[in-house]
Amino acid sequence: MRLSELATSQKGTITRVHGSGAFRKRIMEMGFVRGKNVEVIRNAPLLDPVEYRIMGYNVSLRRKEAWLVEVIPGEEYRIETEPYFTTGNSVQTPLNSIGNGKTINVALVGNPNSGKTSLFNQASGAHERTGNYSGVTIDARETTIHHKGFRINLTDLPGTYSITEYTPEELFVRTRLLEGKPDVVINVVDASNLERNLYLTTQLIEMNVRVIIALNMYDELQKSGARLNYDDLGSLMGTPVVPTVAVRGRGIIDLLNRVIEVFSGTDTVARPVRINYGKTVEASIEVLDTGIKKNGGAPDGMPSRYLAVKLLEGDRAVTSMLRSNPALASLPGLAGSERSMLAKSFGEEADSVMADARYGFIAGALAETMTPGKNAADRA
Ligand code: GDP
Ligand code: MG
Repeated sequence: MRLSELATSQKGTITRVHGSGAFRKRIMEMGFVRGKNVEVIRNAPLLDPVEYRIMGYNVSLRRKEAWLVEVIPGEEYRIETEPYFTTGNSVQTPLNSIGNGKTINVALVGNPNSGKTSLFNQASGAHERTGNYSGVTIDARETTIHHKGFRINLTDLPGTYSITEYTPEELFVRTRLLEGKPDVVINVVDASNLERNLYLTTQLIEMNVRVIIALNMYDELQKSGARLNYDDLGSLMGTPVVPTVAVRGRGIIDLLNRVIEVFSGTDTVARPVRINYGKTVEASIEVLDTGIKKNGGAPDGMPSRYLAVKLLEGDRAVTSMLRSNPALASLPGLAGSERSMLAKSFGEEADSVMADARYGFIAGALAETMTPGKNAADRA
């Protein structure tokens, strides 16, 4: 959000200064630079000037000048101002030492246009690093945020509708989650299109990653007149839900606080939830899951149920991974016969039956927690 939008006595942290030339220089010389805390002393709506306290003294800015300064509300927020890779002798004084400098690796995952980049930019003050990973040309942007004494490494992964294997982006995200093993995944969802967006969430839940839902575009949800009990939705999905309006920086501090709670294991909502595929499919999953466990278990600490589900869906990446693993090479064949059995009994492929079950899980959770707004019909 903009500095001019902070109310009297609100505090904020500067993430970016817009404008150019003499104005920019002047305002920066006054101390309005990235990472600094600012407090509003007096902001009378529509009146100029607005009075601020920054770096220990009071200054007045015209409203339109203050509008050029981007801030995040809250003061317990410090942006990395040092190089991304700091050496042991760097001077970093956490605002609050509960984290003791511990690092939390966080990945941002979500559908295209869910607001991931906006969230990333607000959280990082748009001062990211771009990295290329091992022969892949898809970019993941990274930044480091200091919050409550924790060092939060945030990675913005490419937007995907699903985490299967249909596009290079999907495979990239999947590999980053399974092999990179982030401590916490922030799943950015478009609150105005939950049914669609939560599909990806069901896949994350199955991967056994620790997920927090950033219920983004919360402003749009409210505008539509829809009502959502997001705490209940979170409980049903075993996933904390934090409403955000990424473009305005709202909810970002809450989100970071929740990251710390989930990481520290003190969150009361986060728990493993199992998506139930119904008796027949569950029986096939069980066959494969048992097969994996009997043959030495899933490689790299991946959840065996996840592999069983993927095998049953005929996922090629998982199938070929298991084929090349001597202990588990018989599993794809076993999955093949389970698949044909399911196809016979349902009259459609197992993967469609399973996708339906995921949408059923979502529909069930939304039916209990959401009252659609007036625009719901347009979206259906
Ligand atoms: P990404 O594709 O997930 O990286 O999404 P972007 O961050 O590029 O955002 C997509 C569009 O949604 C942009 O036009 C943003 O300005 C807008 N947007 C992002 N967050 C919000 C939000 O919380 N509320 C509203 N109303 N718009 C948002
Ligand atoms: Mg983006």
